[in-house]
Amino acid sequence: MIFELPKLPYAADALAPIISEQTINLHYGKHLQTYVTNLNNLIAGTKFENADLETIVRESDGAIFNNAGQTLNHTLYFLQLSPNGGGVPKGALADAINKKWGNFDEFKKEFSAAAVTLFGSGWAWLAKDANGELQILKESNAGNPLTKAMTPILTFDVWEHAYYVDYQNRRAEHIEKIWEIIDWEIVEGRF
Ligand code: MN
Repeated sequence: MIFELPKLPYAADALAPIISEQTINLHYGKHLQTYVTNLNNLIAGTKFENADLETIVRESDGAIFNNAGQTLNHTLYFLQLSPNGGGVPKGALADAINKKWGNFDEFKKEFSAAAVTLFGSGWAWLAKDANGELQILKESNAGNPLTKAMTPILTFDVWEHAYYVDYQNRRAEHIEKIWEIIDWEIVEGRF
């Protein structure tokens, strides 16, 4: 199938100052567009030509995996953000977080630490394993929980392109701010 840039449910300047319009234009408009374009070019004429994105991420490797992973990861990332976000999750997701970490603040602390300490480029994930239990994962490069038979729930992008324009080297400050624009209704829907 031909993949397209996902439509953002907010304006390019709507997440400022936490994520600036310039960063959205670069990160979404240039970086993600390049991954989508590369993926379409790479799968043409291969067994993945008619596959959906999740299948490609699960079954590919090399350049196809890198571009499919980055297309899926960024889609999950950008669609979970909202200028009206923040607060805490509700319902079954909140129950699962409390069961595993005791309370939301403890989960948030552990997730932020994973994102801050991930060496190099990659993604911090909250994922659901085969037993329905939540796990925090640190994945390098284009890594996605689907390759470990887990369901991706929440993700923070810690590639430098995600924050360097707005925060320079201050990754921890960027991570702390991102919580204020998480749309928990979208995240709860993935659980
Ligand atoms: Mn990115």
